[in-house]
Amino acid sequence: MRTVNIAIVGGGITGLSTAYFLTKKGIKDVEIFEAKYVGYGSSGRCAAGIRASFTSRVHVVLMKEAIEGWKKWNKSIEGLEFNQAGYLWLLTNDELVEQHKELMKLHNSLGVPTKLIGREEVKELVPSIQLNDVLAALHDPTAGKASPFHATMALRRYLIKAGVKIHEYTPIRSIKASSSKATEIGIEGAGSLKIGGSLVIAAGYWSKELLYKLGYELPVVGDPHHLLITEKVAPLVKPLVIHKESGSYINQVLTGGLILGAEYSVPENDLTLRAGFIVKAVKHMSKYFPQILNANLLRVWIGYYLKTPDNHPLIGLVPGYENIYLATGFSGHGYMMSPIVGEELANLIINGRTKLPETAELTPDRFKKGKFLEEKAVFG
Ligand SMILES: Cc1cc2nc3c(=O)[nH]c(=O)nc-3n(C[C@H](O)[C@H](O)[C@H](O)COP(=O)(O)OP(=O)(O)OC[C@H]3O[C@@H](n4cnc5c(N)ncnc54)[C@H](O)[C@@H]3O)c2cc1C
Repeated sequence: MRTVNIAIVGGGITGLSTAYFLTKKGIKDVEIFEAKYVGYGSSGRCAAGIRASFTSRVHVVLMKEAIEGWKKWNKSIEGLEFNQAGYLWLLTNDELVEQHKELMKLHNSLGVPTKLIGREEVKELVPSIQLNDVLAALHDPTAGKASPFHATMALRRYLIKAGVKIHEYTPIRSIKASSSKATEIGIEGAGSLKIGGSLVIAAGYWSKELLYKLGYELPVVGDPHHLLITEKVAPLVKPLVIHKESGSYINQVLTGGLILGAEYSVPENDLTLRAGFIVKAVKHMSKYFPQILNANLLRVWIGYYLKTPDNHPLIGLVPGYENIYLATGFSGHGYMMSPIVGEELANLIINGRTKLPETAELTPDRFKKGKFLEEKAVFG
C-alpha cells in the first residue's frame, strides 16, 4: 500500500492554501484529494469579498493578517488577482451609525483603518450611487475582492508546478484510525493509502459526514445562500457595497458583471434555487443603483455558508486525534480567511502551534469547554 505524508481532503481554497504553505515551508509529499474538481464547493460559489471589518476581535486580527497574505499571493502567484478596492457599509438609521462608530474604534485599535464617512464622501467614493436614505457609511479601505475562479485555478497551477499531487474526481470515503491516529484513507474505487504524517480535513460541508465516521459530530449547519451575476456592464461601483439594514450587497467583478447577494432565508441543507431571492436582491440594491434594472441576468447559484454556533471557524486538531487537522465552519468567510488559515494549519502540523494566539482560540473543542465567541457582521 502506498504511503502519503500529508493528505488533504478537499480542493477548495482551504485545502489549496494549506498545501501552499506546507510546500513553502519545505514539506514534501503533500497530496490533495478532491471529490469533484478544484473549486466545486463553496469556494467556487462565493462572492469574492475580502475584508477585515468584522465585529469580533479574533476575526479582525485574523483578517488583517489574511489581507497581507492576499497581497503577497497577488505578487507571487501568477493569475491570482486581488483588487484592494475596499468595502462600503451603507448605514440608513441612527442606531446603525452609532454601532458603526463603536466598530470603527475596535477596528482602529487593532490597526484596521476603517472610517465613518458622511453622504458627500460616499458620493465621492461611488459617484454612481443614489444616496436615498443613506445617513453615513463605514469605509474599509483595506478590504477588496479576488475572483474565486482565478484564485483557485492560480493556486492549482502553482501547486502542481511545486510538486503537489492534486487528485480530482477522487472522493475519500473512509478514514481508518488506530487509537488517536489516522492510519489510512480509503479512496472510492481505488483502494487505500497509508498516512505517513497527517490528515487534513478541509472538505467544507462534507467534512461533517467524514468526521461522523470517526465519532466526531461537527457542530456546523449548511446554511444555503444565493447569489446572482449580471452580464458585463459599464464600470458602476469599485468597492463592495453592503446595505447593512437588509444585508444586501453588490460587487462588480473584474470582468464587469454585477454580483448581487441578499438575506434570503431557505431551509438548511438544501441547495434548491428559489426565484424569490432574485426579487429581494434586486429590490434592495436597485434603490441605490437603479442601473441594475437594465442589466442582463447571467446566472443565479447557491452554496453553503457552514455556520458554527458562534459564527467563527473550527481550526485545529479533531478532538481525540493527534494527526487529524480540521479547518471548516467559516460561517460565510472562509474564502477571505484562506491565506491565514492555510498558514496556521501548516504551523500546527509542523510546529504544533499557531503563530497567532487568536487562531488558537478557534479549536474545534471550544464549545464543549463552554467557550463561545461572537460575530455579528455575517450578511448575504
Ligand atoms: C453564496 C456565497 C457567498 C460567499 N461569499 C463569500 C465571500 O464573499 N467571502 C468569503 O470569504 N467567503 C464567502 N463565502 C464562504 C466561502 O465560500 C467558504 O467559506 C469557503 O469557500 C470555504 O472553503 P473550503 O475550501 O473550506 O470549502 P469548499 O470550497 O466547500 O471545499 C471543500 C471541497 O471538498 C470536497 N470534498 C467534499 N467531500 C470530499 C471527500 N469525501 N473527498 C474528497 N473531497 C471532498 C468538495 O468537493 C469541495 O470541493 C460565500 C459562500 C457562499 C455560498
